[in-house]
Amino acid sequence: MSESKKRFCAICLLPLSLFLFAPRIDAQQTPVAESNSSASPSPTPAVFSLQTLAELKRLQQAALNSDYAYRQVAHLANNIGPRLSGSAQAAKSVDYVASELKAIGCEVQLERVMVPHWVRGEETAALVQFPGQAENTTQKIVLCALGASVATPADGIVAEVITVRNFDEMKALPRDKVAGKIVLFNYPFDKQMAGEGHGDEAYGEAVVYRSGGPSAAARQGAVACLIRSVGGADYRLPHTGQTDYANDAPKIPAGAVTAEDADLIVDLLRQGPVKMKLILTPQQLPDVESYNVIGDIKGSEHPEQVIIVSGHLDSWDLGTGAIDDATGVGVSMEAANLIQNLHLKPKRTIRAIAWMNEENGSAGSKQYWKDHEKEASNHFAAMETDGGAGHPLGINIKGKPEVKKMLAPVAAILQESGAGVLNFVEHCGADIEPPEKAGVTAFSPIQDSRFYFNYHHTAADTLDKIVPKELAEDSAVVAVAAYGLANMEQPLPR
Ligand SMILES: [Zn+2]
Repeated sequence: MSESKKRFCAICLLPLSLFLFAPRIDAQQTPVAESNSSASPSPTPAVFSLQTLAELKRLQQAALNSDYAYRQVAHLANNIGPRLSGSAQAAKSVDYVASELKAIGCEVQLERVMVPHWVRGEETAALVQFPGQAENTTQKIVLCALGASVATPADGIVAEVITVRNFDEMKALPRDKVAGKIVLFNYPFDKQMAGEGHGDEAYGEAVVYRSGGPSAAARQGAVACLIRSVGGADYRLPHTGQTDYANDAPKIPAGAVTAEDADLIVDLLRQGPVKMKLILTPQQLPDVESYNVIGDIKGSEHPEQVIIVSGHLDSWDLGTGAIDDATGVGVSMEAANLIQNLHLKPKRTIRAIAWMNEENGSAGSKQYWKDHEKEASNHFAAMETDGGAGHPLGINIKGKPEVKKMLAPVAAILQESGAGVLNFVEHCGADIEPPEKAGVTAFSPIQDSRFYFNYHHTAADTLDKIVPKELAEDSAVVAVAAYGLANMEQPLPR
């Protein structure tokens, strides 16, 4: 997940949703489904035929009992591994997903896109001067480079460290207090907020230092910038992620220290001056030709109308990109797989997309919308799964208010696996932001995000973090929502 995502809170709404929505959903279903009682004057036109509702239930059951998505995630994470844009693994994963989508009978296209090829190098740091230091010893600091970071000299930088908690404190410092130093932005990720299901909000608050911190420090003459990792892990793991250098400041080396190391440095700084030796030697290699992988199940009645189900295929390189975002690709492939296996005929085209380069530039998403801009009006809906593999509680919607009532029957079916909440949000996914802006109704699963940011962008983003049952529930949400949208009897309001 890149930075711009405000999502709904999982926990605080749960009791409410169970209380509020369940009865209403039932009430709604009756009038929306075909009713042939002559008593009630002009029933609202059916949004879903009874046949579609029956097929949705079959799809849901099939999803809950399938391990196809899990096997795909396992292959991407374990057999292929970290898939940073431009890497051999990313290229391998393009071929793999394309051949799998072909194998389940999708019409497959590889959509060409040039992507940046940033590679990590040596990344070490140690405190070489600090209060209470034992003679000839250093204090190791655990860190990683931020995506797009420039390099230090090969033998590193040795400089004094200063720390600030936020941009205001940074701005308040006179230049001579910053110039020639290493700045640490020590903004803690709000673990309590995440534990209450507000993981996305906590992420949104802290990630601004990852993207904007290095340039803010550089503007005042800093020689390097470190941030406190954006995430809730307590296992001394650094969280990587893209930094966005501004054009009005020199590019300086940028890294993320673990939460534990940020606390250590801040404690020592309270006691006296601290000096660090920092070595970061990443490289920005020439851009590489890569692809979005697109697999279509053509619609039987409106093949020109498209429902996107998607996730991003690239990942950061510290872990194996299992929860971020082999999951999103796996559940999107599963939706197509189940529809084909059940020999269902979507009326509109269902398009499974594995986006390239979401993590460090969104080149894949931008290229797709550039190539398909003329078909924007034919994009009926767009869905992205990029919030991990936690238990789903329902569907986020970015669209007109009426959409909620129209999808109530779908929510009622998904309520069986505890995913019956429909919730409006500002934003559903980085790769589907362009259509969102163009008025295409967007969707994403509402997922329990309490633990997601413990592993997000770390070496611990690995297959074991996925509970197969929960992944199957996520597949059910995506497959049922996508097929429901493909067979709606009415268009979605724009
Ligand atoms: Zn992601």
